[in-house]
Amino acid sequence: MTQRVWNFSAGPGVLPLPVLEEAQRDLLALPGAGASVLEISHRSKRFDAIIQEAESNLRQLLNIPDDYHVLFLQGGASLQFAMVPMNLLGDGSADYLITGSWGQKAYKEAQLVGKARTVWNGKDENFTRTPRPDEYAIAPEARYVHFTANETIQGVVFPSEPTVGDVPLVCDMSSNFLSMPIDVRQYALIYAGAQKNAGPAGVTIVILRDDLLARVPDNLPAMLNYRVQAENKSLYNTPPVFAIYIVMLVTRWLLHTIGGLERMEQINREKARLLYEVIDQSEGFYRGHAHPDHRSIMNVTWRLPSEALEQQFLHEAQARGLHELKGHRSVGGCRASIYNAMPIEGVQALRAFMLEFMAQHR
Ligand SMILES: *Cc1c(COP(=O)(O)O)cnc(C)c1O
Repeated sequence: MTQRVWNFSAGPGVLPLPVLEEAQRDLLALPGAGASVLEISHRSKRFDAIIQEAESNLRQLLNIPDDYHVLFLQGGASLQFAMVPMNLLGDGSADYLITGSWGQKAYKEAQLVGKARTVWNGKDENFTRTPRPDEYAIAPEARYVHFTANETIQGVVFPSEPTVGDVPLVCDMSSNFLSMPIDVRQYALIYAGAQKNAGPAGVTIVILRDDLLARVPDNLPAMLNYRVQAENKSLYNTPPVFAIYIVMLVTRWLLHTIGGLERMEQINREKARLLYEVIDQSEGFYRGHAHPDHRSIMNVTWRLPSEALEQQFLHEAQARGLHELKGHRSVGGCRASIYNAMPIEGVQALRAFMLEFMAQHR
């Protein structure tokens, strides 16, 4: 096999090896089909079985109630920044909690579509935490509240859902989707680009409560209309068939190899602990970006004493097979994305390197 490195990429992120192996094995022909998943009709029985299994695996993993639709759309999470307000805003206004770069982008897009209001913005604190419920006031008449569960660039996570009363809660869950169990009932709409934790780029998963569809205006282009997409079960046009197939394999892996999201969360918490412990015990050599109560178990962000040392750290890490650890240019420093598919051995290798590097340079 080709040598694989420990890949800490923030996205597209690492995929489970057994999933890649199965996709490779069946790439030329799905068992019994005589053709690749890339070459068969999206309206064939075989593809129907794939998209249905992807949906039913997601329903099982997340315990999605029957009155929620599961959609497989294109355009990435970034298109959802616009589709959410196009479908849900009407003449009203929406409230945005901004805890990092992605939330900021979502808010900007909403402003292009209609009325949006920032109810909390962590920018002045350099996006190091999420707000307490007493720090923001949601307008009871807001059409929805939008938040980013896990800010991928800053490594900042909401420890629990924001408190929004009866206002529908909309969540960009791109970078911690399927990392742990959630109570879907608390949300009106969840969206997630698959390429962080659920599959490859090209498909975006949207989970939305049925009653929201009544709000969708009639004059939206079909592709941007949740009602059209739901009525057509994501098959209004040719969907991203290969990406959906990989999501099917990833969710199958989560269910049958990992054993569900409770187990996945335990593993993820242990992986994150291994890194945060080094940061916390480094006496300031490594400085975590996020406040300890708000730090992500998917994207671990930290700085070193100088940019020169950061460069050296990244360079030596790469030589050890620890790749893609450079932080986003807007934050600097280092970032280890330790999505579901990152094996604990990869995190242990990074931890050992961090300890060694600190011993040499402190
Ligand atoms: C990566 C990411 C996005 C953007 O996703 P695209 O699919 O590239 O549009 C949006 N939100 C979050 C939280 C992300 O991590």
